[in-house]
Amino acid sequence: MKLTLLGAPGAGKGTQAEILSKKLGIPTISTGAILRSAIQEGTPVGKQAAAYIQSGRLVPDEVIIGIVQERLAKPDCARGYILDGMPRTIPQAQALIDHGIDLDAAVSIEIGDQEIVRRMSGRRTCPHCGASYHVANNPPREEGKCDQCGTALVIREDDAPETVMARLAVFHEQTEPLKGFYQRLGKLRSVENETGIAAMSAKIFRALGIEE
Ligand code: AMP
Repeated sequence: MKLTLLGAPGAGKGTQAEILSKKLGIPTISTGAILRSAIQEGTPVGKQAAAYIQSGRLVPDEVIIGIVQERLAKPDCARGYILDGMPRTIPQAQALIDHGIDLDAAVSIEIGDQEIVRRMSGRRTCPHCGASYHVANNPPREEGKCDQCGTALVIREDDAPETVMARLAVFHEQTEPLKGFYQRLGKLRSVENETGIAAMSAKIFRALGIEE
């Protein structure tokens, strides 16, 4: 199965992508995580992307398309994958089609801006493995430490309130039109936000016709 998750920053795409990934036995491909590790490693792509990410803007389409093309060519993607945070623009979605990539469904997580701003203030991220937590909704077993690798959790630089507002504006302007794009292709599965991670996953499974 080839899926993409659409939704505002903080909608829970990363968390739900991980759950789907375990359930379906296919990898999650998060362009945000790939870019963050490229920045940490100081690669040319990382250097190109850093200023965009810090200011909450989108990284240019050609950079993203290159990253995704390279990643999807790896053998673990042969049975399918879940794209988390890509496509984020119509040209990116069109590029997938132009490269012969035919997604089965685009799951759109519907959530209001107010809830996003509230959630983002509690988000904590592992700088090592990229796992995401929330101080109230999804706390790690030991406060401030990643469950998976034990690294001290941080607040992502682009989760600062003013950057969140910029990212939300970018989402409405450039990413939301993708809903119409996938609707016209008959691939849109809209799912209203649900309190609780498991309840949200159950809704997504249902929308995709996956047995729980
Ligand atoms: P995320 O982890 O998905 O919230 O992404 C963090 C940041 O990485 C975004 O705010 C963008 O600056 C950049 N980014 C991630 N994915 C994309 C994409 N598909 N297109 C453009 N920029 C992206």
